[in-house]
Amino acid sequence: MLDMMDRKSFRVGLLAVFCVLAVALAVWQYRFVPLSLPKEPETAGQEARWYVLADDGLDNLTIPDVRMPVFDSRTLAERRALGLPTQLPAIAEVHTDHVAYLTFDDGPDERNTPIILDILKTYGVPATFYVTGKMSEKHPEVLKRIFAEHHAIGNHSYDHVYKNLYPNPQDFLAEMEKTDEIIYGILGVRPFILRAPGGSWGMFTPEYGPLLVANGYVEHDWNVSSQDAAGGELTAAELVANVDAQTDRVKNAIILMHSTAGKDSTAAALPAVIELLVKKGFTFGVVTPMTPHP
Ligand SMILES: [Zn+2]
Repeated sequence: MLDMMDRKSFRVGLLAVFCVLAVALAVWQYRFVPLSLPKEPETAGQEARWYVLADDGLDNLTIPDVRMPVFDSRTLAERRALGLPTQLPAIAEVHTDHVAYLTFDDGPDERNTPIILDILKTYGVPATFYVTGKMSEKHPEVLKRIFAEHHAIGNHSYDHVYKNLYPNPQDFLAEMEKTDEIIYGILGVRPFILRAPGGSWGMFTPEYGPLLVANGYVEHDWNVSSQDAAGGELTAAELVANVDAQTDRVKNAIILMHSTAGKDSTAAALPAVIELLVKKGFTFGVVTPMTPHP
């Protein structure tokens, strides 16, 4: 009898120990299971985007990522018709040391722009293309490729004719809006950034700035020129040497190049330009309204 009781107690004891161990195991697992589960993607429930799309109030333009382009989902005409703001709020410039902004003006063309895009893809480097309305109408597929490959796009007037742009700021603004409408028609978004043909230095009178600000445009000139638009085509080596000579003492480099017909040496120089900048400690960004002015 006693023997039976002992055996029963032993079994109950064993069961109790087993239960305690099982509970301990469950608690231990509960503690560690959440850590071993894959994380929910951060973009879950919303469309993953590689660019910032301005909201109607223009109050979400503060994402400090130098590789992320910024676009508007509405044209200026739409904003005016709907009573939405057209002027950007005061947004802080993103100051990051040693960022190079490769910029290509006057395209897109069907020859050099695709070659430049291939090189940028090989190196995994983003760039900014300041396009004209006229060239975008001619080569919409190339414009779509620039956008699809995550580069920034800026407005560079309809057809780059100074006598139509610089008599007065209203004419300049009208041409920028016309170009925006063309870009919007092809991509479904429009840029905030623009580059004045010839650069704003020496072209803009004091009235241009306030009109552009009121309409949400941010103009960027450059502080490094490859001189690929200088008279007489320079060799690739000369273009690289020009970039090299101007990037020793700059904090950030906004580099002027062109992606049009006849700029074969620009495309030929690009791999060496990228490798040179990497060697000098630069990373690469795209121009946005938050990009510091040179
Ligand atoms: Zn130009």
